[in-house]
Amino acid sequence: MVPLRFDREDKMSEEEIVKEYRELSLFLLRTMVGVVSDQQSEDNSLLSDLSKDLSEADDLSRIKHIHSRIKQDVQRKKLLAVDLFPTEIKHLQHSLKARSEAENDLHVLVREFKNLTSLALHQVEVFSIAEQENRRLFLECREGLSEFSSTQETRICVDKCKRLFSSNLLLDKETEREREELKKIITILAGSISGLLHSSGDFDSGLDESVDRLQQARTLSEVQQIRESLLLQAQGLQSRTRQMVEHIRQAQEQIDDANKKIETLQQQMEKIKQEIVIDPLTRAYNRRAYDQKIKHEFMGFKRYGRPTALAIADIDHFKQVNDTFGHHAGDMVLQNLSRLMKREIREIDVLARYGGEEFALILPHTLYPQACDVAERIRRKIEGTKMEYKGKTFSVTVSFGVGSLKHDDTLESYVERVDRALYQAKDKGRNRVVGGDDL
Ligand code: GH3
Ligand code: MG
Ligand code: MG
Repeated sequence: MVPLRFDREDKMSEEEIVKEYRELSLFLLRTMVGVVSDQQSEDNSLLSDLSKDLSEADDLSRIKHIHSRIKQDVQRKKLLAVDLFPTEIKHLQHSLKARSEAENDLHVLVREFKNLTSLALHQVEVFSIAEQENRRLFLECREGLSEFSSTQETRICVDKCKRLFSSNLLLDKETEREREELKKIITILAGSISGLLHSSGDFDSGLDESVDRLQQARTLSEVQQIRESLLLQAQGLQSRTRQMVEHIRQAQEQIDDANKKIETLQQQMEKIKQEIVIDPLTRAYNRRAYDQKIKHEFMGFKRYGRPTALAIADIDHFKQVNDTFGHHAGDMVLQNLSRLMKREIREIDVLARYGGEEFALILPHTLYPQACDVAERIRRKIEGTKMEYKGKTFSVTVSFGVGSLKHDDTLESYVERVDRALYQAKDKGRNRVVGGDDL
């Protein structure tokens, strides 16, 4: 046990005791001095010194020491009997005894107070002391309790304990209310998480279990545990949602990529389809397309009586062009003539590269005279067109055979008639249009 120290009040009473003791001693001494005054002056001065020392003495041990010196002196001088002042000494003894009892009482009181406070603190510990302020107070009280020894410190400790108990009581009431509020909030939270999970098709039985547990929760810590588990589930949901969004984004990217690929493929297919029917040099229809289209027109005439005509153009002396200006110049001529003829015909008409330097013009809905006119117009246009290759200028002419489909025609007889007309145009001197139907 730490020895008791006394605070202000206690020190004053201690001083009072010392004072009383000293005065009593001085009274005793003065009486002795009075008794010995008629004796030798030596004794007188010794007692005066002791009296001086005594009036300056401010604690019990010094007074006791002076007492022993006086006792020695008195015994030596045999001046006085010890029982000379029985009343005063008794009073002094009584006062010291009372003082000692008071000290003992104080020790007992402090010990009991400590025990009681320990019990109270234990009770507090049983409650939730999660709150920062209460925890701090709790620790300070427990620490203070093992150390305080003055009444001042006791008072501080008592104040802290009071604050702690009262705040804990408040906290206990608060927690009751908080627990109910928390339950409501968590139930709403759980409901919204559950709704989200169901709407995302992600059923989580753990959540329903938490809601059930919540309804039955009685203590704050139970509610807190459920809250933690719900928060974890909410976090899980959040991360699953993020993953889902990421999946959707990736899927969207894949769809976009696929769409782009499809678009490219469609363009390529369109190109291929075109390439299949288009002559790469002249960009006119090729022989394959010609075959299909002439057949189509033939069927149209046979089934619906829809008129159709055909003109075949062959470049005159084209071999000479190649020989004179080179094969590239010949290619250029083929391209120029293709462009020119396309410009001259209607959109419904078909220009096809029939052979090496031969073009066929399929003219739907066209009667023989109009077909001859078209051929003639084109022939003239070609005749009057200047070709230029590597700074050299020249022109070409074209011979045309023209014919229209007749009722007794087969496809072969129709084309042959046009072919025959072309040969005649060549025969007659080239650069002319010969109509097969007139032959
Ligand atoms: P004609 O007036 O009797 O038709 O005389 P021609 O020289 O035009 O006739 P021929 O059949 O003797 O010669 C056709 C020439 O056309 C031969 C060939 O080199 C040329 N030719 C055919 N296809 C192409 C081609 O794609 N490019 C070039 N540069 N020449 C071609
Ligand atoms: Mg030819
Ligand atoms: Mg020719």
